[in-house]
Amino acid sequence: MNPSPTNTARTVAVVGSGPIGSAYARLLLEAVPDARVVMFEAGPQLTAIAGENVRNIPHPAEKERARELSQGPQAGAFRESLGIPSSVVVEGMFTARGGTHLLDFGGEGSAHAATFPAAAASTNVGGMGAHWTCATPSPSFSERIPFISDAEWEELIAEAARLLHVQTAAFADSEIGAAIRSLLTEEFGSELPEGYGPSTLPVSGDPQPDGTMRWAGADVVLGPLLDPEGGLADRFELRDLSLVRRVDHEDGRVTGVTVEDLRSHEVYAVAADLVVVAADAFRSPQLLWASGIRPRALGHYLTEHPVVISTVALDPEGMSRYASEEDLDRELARRALNAADPVAAVNRIPFSEPGHPFSLQVMYAENPPFQLDPDHPAAGNRWGYVNMGYGMRKQPRFEDAVTFDDAEPDYRGFPNLTIEYALTDSEQAEIAEATERLRRAGNALGTFVAEPRLLPNGSSLHYQGTMRMGAEDDGTSVADPYSRVWGYENLVVGGNALIPTATTMNPTLMSVAIAVRGAREAAARLTAEASAEARN
Ligand code: FAD
Repeated sequence: MNPSPTNTARTVAVVGSGPIGSAYARLLLEAVPDARVVMFEAGPQLTAIAGENVRNIPHPAEKERARELSQGPQAGAFRESLGIPSSVVVEGMFTARGGTHLLDFGGEGSAHAATFPAAAASTNVGGMGAHWTCATPSPSFSERIPFISDAEWEELIAEAARLLHVQTAAFADSEIGAAIRSLLTEEFGSELPEGYGPSTLPVSGDPQPDGTMRWAGADVVLGPLLDPEGGLADRFELRDLSLVRRVDHEDGRVTGVTVEDLRSHEVYAVAADLVVVAADAFRSPQLLWASGIRPRALGHYLTEHPVVISTVALDPEGMSRYASEEDLDRELARRALNAADPVAAVNRIPFSEPGHPFSLQVMYAENPPFQLDPDHPAAGNRWGYVNMGYGMRKQPRFEDAVTFDDAEPDYRGFPNLTIEYALTDSEQAEIAEATERLRRAGNALGTFVAEPRLLPNGSSLHYQGTMRMGAEDDGTSVADPYSRVWGYENLVVGGNALIPTATTMNPTLMSVAIAVRGAREAAARLTAEASAEARN
């Protein structure tokens, strides 16, 4: 970073290096010529290119190591320091997805989340964005935020899609993917509104000339900030293994952050004109709480997507009506180019209203995600398999919440988390309906090798609502329409936690769009402040 800023230069502290913190860093540096951004990340940097998606790492052992390093309290060494051998798995204990760690991990300082047991986080440069599947559908109908006009949404989403390198027609040339869409259209097409039938799922990444994908992470969002020649890198600094312990504030203005260097355990303060907290939907509100910033809605209105999933072996007869053996050979040849990446053609049926308040995601893969008994009639199916899941709505309620206990420190010394969460009759009815549709989808495509099942609460990894934005400061929201914490003009929050609506789609594109709106407003304010100071 340039150590000699002008005296009107603005310093921005960003907490968290996931896609949202990265979007703020980039947009602010691009818009405010005199700004400097220091980004603090509690976890380690995993890849030479900061924030790269670990799915791009070709070597399986290196990929595993990168995932292990992201697992905070469940990374082997830390777990062992808590006296919990990492090899012990107790019956009934949940295990986290690779690259993530459970909040309720069962050791000393673990969160309490019996009703939301699969809640997880990633602690590494790039956040969950170093491990995500990269599905980037847009919100539609009532999923959108009511106080942002449709025209503005379209523009914000387009900008978010640019930042995330979204491909709307990924794998569209796959004949196998097209055959899957045709079978789903036969089954569901007549029931769905025009434009909301089976289609390709937009994904975030860069198609390579050989037909494979370089999956996006926070690296593509940071973009020019990582290019030493680009002119922005000298105003940007990313400090990994740097835990922000407190947002410092005085009389309704934040003044900076207090940081612990996790290598040396030195604690130091950094003054800032703007603080952006994008440290995920549990740890952001926890940091605000620990800093004495406690709006009534903080941590409340927790939602996610209940998820029902299944695995189906594609029916050779049905598939042959739309794709030939030669198409299959071509698909398998392409798959062989990138054997380490299990995902090929990706399809979906999006949310639509009225009548289809669900999102179906259909991922084609050569093998099931688990060891299939070799004697199973569908084992070794040459036409492959699909892993399918419906995401459903959770209606926001105050009582679904993460709360914080000042008297009980968690493993990091923050007020510990307790999550209370319940599915109501409204969710149960939609879960039953989506499960029935999943059965129909499975029967239309082939034979179930894993029956539809509802995943435990917290499994979606899409945690929303705990810092929801609102049109007015009426106690039901934490942030204003520009993502500023009510009452703190220079404290901006970011991430899925801002989403106030009941949604069914993967939320990252929507959260980046919200960040675009927040960053534009923050940039305008920083610029105005700098001009005012220059005049004085
Ligand atoms: P995160 O990416 O979670 O980053 C937050 C960062 O803040 C973390 O690195 C954390 O270590 C850091 N942090 C926390 N506290 C502090 C502190 N006090 N000081 C400093 N740093 C701190 N979403 C989709 O839309 N589509 C998908 O297909 C999809 N698939 C997924 C698959 C997997 C396996 C996973 C794990 C997630 C998936 N997601 C998906 C979710 C997606 O990754 C998140 O929506 C996205 O990463 C959120 O970005 P963020 O920047 O808000 O938070």
